[in-house]
Amino acid sequence: MGNKAIEIANLDVSKLIQMLNEALAEEWLAYYQYWVGARVMEGPMRSEVEPELLLHATEELGHAELVAGRILQLGGTPLLNPSQWASYAKCPYEEPTDPYIEVILEQNLAGERCAIQRYEDIAQFTHGKDMSTHQMAITILNDELEHEHDIQDFLADLERLKEDIRKMRL
Ligand code: FE
Ligand code: FE
Ligand code: MG
Repeated sequence: MGNKAIEIANLDVSKLIQMLNEALAEEWLAYYQYWVGARVMEGPMRSEVEPELLLHATEELGHAELVAGRILQLGGTPLLNPSQWASYAKCPYEEPTDPYIEVILEQNLAGERCAIQRYEDIAQFTHGKDMSTHQMAITILNDELEHEHDIQDFLADLERLKEDIRKMRL
């Protein structure tokens, strides 16, 4: 681990490592939420939505890699046991017990909104103090904003589809 990395980080490094480990736990849970949700999902537009959810899952895994790498650079240890994920994560894991596509999408949307807040917080905490973590947080934040937008678009399309069907029946 490079000492310079810690020296130039002009902030409470242990607090930052704690925040990054919470984010790491959230990324793994987001990965699984997308992955299992895509598999159990039922309902209209499934064939369109499923590959996008699996792509998002892969992107969450990429975020976990970035965050774990930064924790190591800062001299910390990434969470070593998956049993820690639930207690570290501030974004709750939502079990997809109802496989209906809208329910799955709403669960993913809640996760994205929580992730947006997480990286907003890390970006604020590191602003002007730790450029490297700051830049990483912004990069991930931009992905999470795109994820939120994708999910909202799917939900709007489903709403539109339901409206069209209602009109046909009148
Ligand atoms: Fe993510
Ligand atoms: Fe995301
Ligand atoms: Mg997308």
